[in-house]
Amino acid sequence: RPFPIRLSGPIVKGFGRGSADLGIPTANIPLAGLSVGGNEDVESGVYYGWAGVDIDDTGLRKERGGEGEGRGPGGGVWEMVMSIGWNPYYKNEVRSVEVHIMHAFHHDFYGARMNLLICGFIRPEYDYVSKESLIEDINVDIEVAKRSLEREPYLNLKGEKYLLEFG
Ligand code: ADP
Ligand code: MG
Repeated sequence: RPFPIRLSGPIVKGFGRGSADLGIPTANIPLAGLSVGGNEDVESGVYYGWAGVDIDDTGLRKERGGEGEGRGPGGGVWEMVMSIGWNPYYKNEVRSVEVHIMHAFHHDFYGARMNLLICGFIRPEYDYVSKESLIEDINVDIEVAKRSLEREPYLNLKGEKYLLEFG
């Protein structure tokens, strides 16, 4: 499948397990709500890329203008790792997209709009016997993502206008 892949959607509530259980918050967007079609054939697994979100670097929503005006290119772009899948560890029944942004925010930002530019695939989903081994793997994924995204072809993608276009 050709990278980068674009996906966007509103950030919705999950079960609150990312932060509470793993210490790694993941912003969830419903796969069904993604604005780019043909996602059925996106393989389950862990990916890395860039996330544009219409919030500032503390996590607060940007001021929205009325009826299509004043909607400047606000928001920010950060590194992210994401999983697409059934989350076997939690026996999920629907496929979800969960995005961990590599930035420390001060606030939640449910309802914000997120534009994802998926740059590459890290690994398939595994079934975990322990929470500790899941956390260990996520931390490795984060390191792999950081190292990949600092390489020039991926770093250049951070400047894509699409990431900060919040219709
Ligand atoms: P949920 O199950 O509702 O997704 P989580 O415990 O996974 O709950 O927390 C995710 C929420 O935390 C996101 O929707 C977002 O509002 C907030 N959040 C704060 N920091 C981050 C971050 N670095 N990456 C992703 N989400 C974050
Ligand atoms: Mg989550």
